[in-house]
Amino acid sequence: MIVTGGGLSGCAASLAAAKAGAQVTLIERTDTLIGCAIRAGETRGNGNFVGQQELRFLGGGELFDALESLKLHDVQFPDAARHTFIFNTALAEPRIRKIVIEAGVKVHFDSRAIDVIRENGRIRGVKLQDGSTVPGDSFVDCTGTRGGIAVCHKYGKGCVMCLVRCPSFGDRQGLVEKAGGKVFHRSRPDGTPGVLSSAVALYKDTLAPWLKAKVEKEGLVKIPLPEHLVDYSKVAIMGASRPRDFVENIFLGDIGAVVKCFGIVYMAQQKLRQVSGFENVQVEDPRASGWNHIGHVDIAERNGFLQVEGIENLFCGGEKAGHGSVDGAIMSGYLAGHNAARNAFGVEPLGLPRSLAIGDWLAVVTEEYRTEEGRKKQYRMYHGSTGCTMGNTGEGCRSWVCTPMMWPELRIG
Ligand SMILES: Cc1cc2nc3c(=O)[nH]c(=O)nc-3n(C[C@H](O)[C@H](O)[C@H](O)COP(=O)(O)OP(=O)(O)OC[C@H]3O[C@@H](n4cnc5c(N)ncnc54)[C@H](O)[C@@H]3O)c2cc1C
Repeated sequence: MIVTGGGLSGCAASLAAAKAGAQVTLIERTDTLIGCAIRAGETRGNGNFVGQQELRFLGGGELFDALESLKLHDVQFPDAARHTFIFNTALAEPRIRKIVIEAGVKVHFDSRAIDVIRENGRIRGVKLQDGSTVPGDSFVDCTGTRGGIAVCHKYGKGCVMCLVRCPSFGDRQGLVEKAGGKVFHRSRPDGTPGVLSSAVALYKDTLAPWLKAKVEKEGLVKIPLPEHLVDYSKVAIMGASRPRDFVENIFLGDIGAVVKCFGIVYMAQQKLRQVSGFENVQVEDPRASGWNHIGHVDIAERNGFLQVEGIENLFCGGEKAGHGSVDGAIMSGYLAGHNAARNAFGVEPLGLPRSLAIGDWLAVVTEEYRTEEGRKKQYRMYHGSTGCTMGNTGEGCRSWVCTPMMWPELRIG
């Protein structure tokens, strides 16, 4: 079985498939695992808490346990008030790499998938940039939705030297497109395809000493922006799914080696330096400060089993399947990997019932992304202050309780 893309979703898919008995090869374009999560940090807020517990009950808790063991701070965001914590992002990659490799997954780094071999509605192998071909029985596309350079030129301001590292390792490339599967873009409110990534990481030592000490102590510090820096147009540009609070304030979080402005605050270094405590700040990523990469493009059309429409042995997880975020990538990646292993063994795929939070959320994303209006939104399990919600800024609120014990036959790990 072949998993392409070693972000959190690809790691989860590989792990789930290996646990289900498949021989798994994970193909990763760069020299590291966990993809974008290398600068994430925030996890488990609100409904994600229920989802994490469910995945543990279903047999797939290793990656959440790993992140929890790297917890730096319990924090409260305005839209994810309960259960949220920040993990040490720099330490997450080696920890997760160890788990994946110890599960027996063969990881090929510096290997970029560029095409597929397809016969009779099935994929037979993946072609790599070095000219080799990796054959397999079933496949998972976990290549994410961010970059490459042409996409960032078309829908953004070109390559901004961000964490996706296209100039060094080549553009993202999905198996779904190569196999002739259908893809769509999430769009901004004005219909422009793709969404601007919002986060920006800063070198800790370039903060004023008082601010560095405060963020290291408290984990998350809310800093009101001076009026002239508040820019409500960002909400539209970023296809934002967080409340106004994130436009009017900086939410500065300690993610370990660096600090990070969370939410939709993204702004150039020159502007950040006008804020008290940030006078000498150095932006770490992206280096071409002032904009960021474009994401949430080329999302696959897939069914509730995370099987790509029209291609019998291709599954997808994480952002590729419409399930962004740390929690979303792990939950959807796990199910995609498990179902790909079932497919390889000739067993029917597993669907999670809507009485489970994960099953309900998968179903909502499947339904919503079939409509143009639905594609303007992001569906995560944490928006809103009251608990488990979906849709932009908390509308469409849903509450879940943990019920997997009612489903003893469901095991995905
Ligand atoms: C800066 C930033 C901060 C974020 N902060 C948070 C946060 O605090 N909390 C949160 O919940 N979410 C956060 N997110 C979102 C979250 O990190 C992502 O939604 C999630 O990690 C996506 O995982 P993924 O596996 O789907 O995709 P990715 O992480 O994008 O992984 C895709 C992988 O596929 C590889 N790949 C692509 N093409 C190929 C190819 N052709 N061949 C081989 N490999 C290929 C890439 O190199 C990459 O490793 C953040 C995102 C960004 C960009």
